[in-house]
Amino acid sequence: MTSRQSRREFMGLAAASAAGILTRPAFGDAHPFTAAPFSPSAPLADPDLLVVNAKVYTMDGATPKAEAFAVSGGRIIAVGSSADVRGLARKGSQTFDAKGMTIVPGFTDCHNHAGGTTLLYEVLVGNPFEVEFVTIDSIVQKLRAKAQQTPAGMWVDGYFFDDTKVKDKRQLVARDLDQVSTEHPVVVHHRGGHTSFYNTNALQLAKIDKSTPNPPGGTFDRDEGGELNGRVTDRARNVFNSVGKRQTFTAEQTAQRERDGVAHISKQFVRYGLTSVHHESGDLAAIQEVRARGELLHRVSYESSGRVLESMITGGIKTGFGDEWIKLGATSEHTVDGSFSERTMALSIPYPGLQSGYRGNVTETQDDLNSWIERVHRAGIQVNCHANGDVAIDMFLTAVERAQKSFPRADTRPKITHCTLINDDLVRRIKTLGAVPAMFTTYAYYNSDKFVFYGEDLMKRSMAYRTFIDAGVWAAAGSDFSPGPFAPLMGIQGMVTRTGWDGKTWGANQRITVDEALRVNTINGAYNSHEEATKGSISAGKLADFVVLADDPHTVSPEKIKDIQIVRTVVGGATAYQG
Ligand SMILES: [Zn+2]
Repeated sequence: MTSRQSRREFMGLAAASAAGILTRPAFGDAHPFTAAPFSPSAPLADPDLLVVNAKVYTMDGATPKAEAFAVSGGRIIAVGSSADVRGLARKGSQTFDAKGMTIVPGFTDCHNHAGGTTLLYEVLVGNPFEVEFVTIDSIVQKLRAKAQQTPAGMWVDGYFFDDTKVKDKRQLVARDLDQVSTEHPVVVHHRGGHTSFYNTNALQLAKIDKSTPNPPGGTFDRDEGGELNGRVTDRARNVFNSVGKRQTFTAEQTAQRERDGVAHISKQFVRYGLTSVHHESGDLAAIQEVRARGELLHRVSYESSGRVLESMITGGIKTGFGDEWIKLGATSEHTVDGSFSERTMALSIPYPGLQSGYRGNVTETQDDLNSWIERVHRAGIQVNCHANGDVAIDMFLTAVERAQKSFPRADTRPKITHCTLINDDLVRRIKTLGAVPAMFTTYAYYNSDKFVFYGEDLMKRSMAYRTFIDAGVWAAAGSDFSPGPFAPLMGIQGMVTRTGWDGKTWGANQRITVDEALRVNTINGAYNSHEEATKGSISAGKLADFVVLADDPHTVSPEKIKDIQIVRTVVGGATAYQG
């Protein structure tokens, strides 16, 4: 299926078979997975894979459930009953008997930093994938081992720290990191990406002392006695960029690390059932090279920034350029405010429980945001901003409304990464603009220990999947890995239960059903990057990306959804992972 002619012909046949399905009546209750079959008279391409005897949740409104489907040339060509699909067998067709297991479309993560090099090469002081508590001592030990192999004066970095996953039940402070070394600048990066913890050496190198004022968009935190405690938030961290020595790599070494990082994280994605991931920037050349050597297992919607975005704008390259494996999507997140998990997002009210009156960090002016959005919008590129708090979401919508007014474009789907804290007015404006939120997924389970900082009133309006679905907004899933684990089943469990690892439930009014949560993670994800014609459901004509699950998330107890075994992840008809 290589020439344009045969592709067109193939698509025509697929459409014919889809039409066949549509003419059949909906299946009855007695045989819920016996979907109405394709029209037997429609000619079909020879299938190379027949999947039979499954509970297929297609996420396709025309035939929501089926038993079987056929794949040819990496695409689904027919969906129906096991008997009908078996009847399509030709010489060389493989048959996969799912033995009653559940099959859903491959999952899509619409916001992922995909940092494979960090996973492979850096010191990890927390668990990237699961809830796990660590001790401050373990952090110090790991970094001390690194410091012993690092020349004095050179940075020692720790990654994947989570301030609420510490057994000591207290904050990590500069004094702790002074135990790593007094001769190296030491920093521990919070997995959320908006706060870092420095030792005294680092603070001194940057000439920060207790009298240093906070810069716009960030803070140097102090203890009750007014002394620096080592925690530095958002833009205040910029002063550390120009101090201390850093390990350097040749261009060749850097390229090698990037390639290995992409190949490594691709394996992790398919292990958890992800078949499409929106990459927040990263090395585009590395992604292409890994694909060329046959090790890219998932599909990439590449979200550009910096040099790549500039070349798109100046070169006239719009969103959608690329192919089924690597496609240019929206921009990467243009940041408007701080973090939800690290409590720096911009709120319209003071943070509950804080005496200081702190309302979070706005990291962009309205004027700068207006001009950035207008430029990207005019260039025909899907805009994407990181906006967590209601103040930041309002700023984003204001800028998009303004750009649409001066230069109307249809179906732009402005993307709001996180879109965490909403109110009725924001939802109405999001709906009017056709904006697409990519909200936190695993947080409801993983970060339930942080919601006490916001309280139930704000949590009722946070990660508001129920509100968005009821309003007819295409809410999608965006794990934000590294900040959140990316396991889609952990995300789905949280969306369904709103109960965390600690057994606490927050914002139960935002619960959605298993079916809705599956949609959020599949077809809504495809819509988020304008790819719903080719992805997101098990439908004739779409890419054969699907996941085989050992149990049905509809029938297991909801607090066990995250533990369902991924039996197989299939991308383009080929097995990318087998459990
Ligand atoms: Zn992010």
